[in-house]
Amino acid sequence: MLLSRTDSVRALRGALLSSLLLASSAFADEGARASFTTSSEDAHWGYDQTLSPEHWGELPGDAVCAQGVAQSPIALVTAGAAHPRLDVPSFHYATSRVRMLNTGHTVQFTYDSGSTIRVGSNEYKLAQFHFHTPSEHTKDGVEYPLELHLVHTDANGTPALVVGVLIEEGAVNAALFTAFRHLPRHMGEESAPAGALLNASALLPHDKAFFQYAGSLTTPPCTQGLQWYVMKQPLQLSDAQIAAFERLPHLNPNNRPLQPLNGRTVGAHSGR
Ligand SMILES: [Zn+2]
Repeated sequence: MLLSRTDSVRALRGALLSSLLLASSAFADEGARASFTTSSEDAHWGYDQTLSPEHWGELPGDAVCAQGVAQSPIALVTAGAAHPRLDVPSFHYATSRVRMLNTGHTVQFTYDSGSTIRVGSNEYKLAQFHFHTPSEHTKDGVEYPLELHLVHTDANGTPALVVGVLIEEGAVNAALFTAFRHLPRHMGEESAPAGALLNASALLPHDKAFFQYAGSLTTPPCTQGLQWYVMKQPLQLSDAQIAAFERLPHLNPNNRPLQPLNGRTVGAHSGR
């Protein structure tokens, strides 16, 4: 979001930046650019005090955060889900280098090109993934310690489809072993452990059952028109892996509160 800002917001942001945000880099989240280029344009929002999600809609260009009627995240309820005919996503993920950036809002993993998801006749590119703590979506009233968002873009490079994976404590996730020992701790910091590779397929639960609904970015500018596929089965990470993320300065919490459903249909599918 490289929109011009009003003077009052510039002043506000300047004050907040000087006191709260010491580094120079910040990105939108689902809307992030899939590169290591840095910008200060999105540094004005956050998760606490005057920067909190309740106030995102007051910022120029971000009004849809407050006024949108199809926002994310939402409470997912198995018993309340419909069972429409849904196309089942097929994952075509290749191995990528591990390249992490602490955006000040999350740790974003930029994914090498060449990985896609197909839904019906549409194909989207896996651009990046990142984490929230605690989870943004809830499932049957349960909040999870982490949530993974795999962000896919359309042919224009615009975020179009996000796969959400709830994360519970359990077995160590081998694919994230090296990365989570080298998480970039501070805003603007990058980390790319030498030789480290991962395949995002290992970040999907074995059971591919999913919820599907129409929602938004969960970060400013809260753009709507996103397809959400949230996996029903959680992925396991070890307590040490979960703690490694939870202990990052300034990123706990980094979850947006639940948003009203406003009559939207949530579909559920076995994934097969
Ligand atoms: Zn996210």
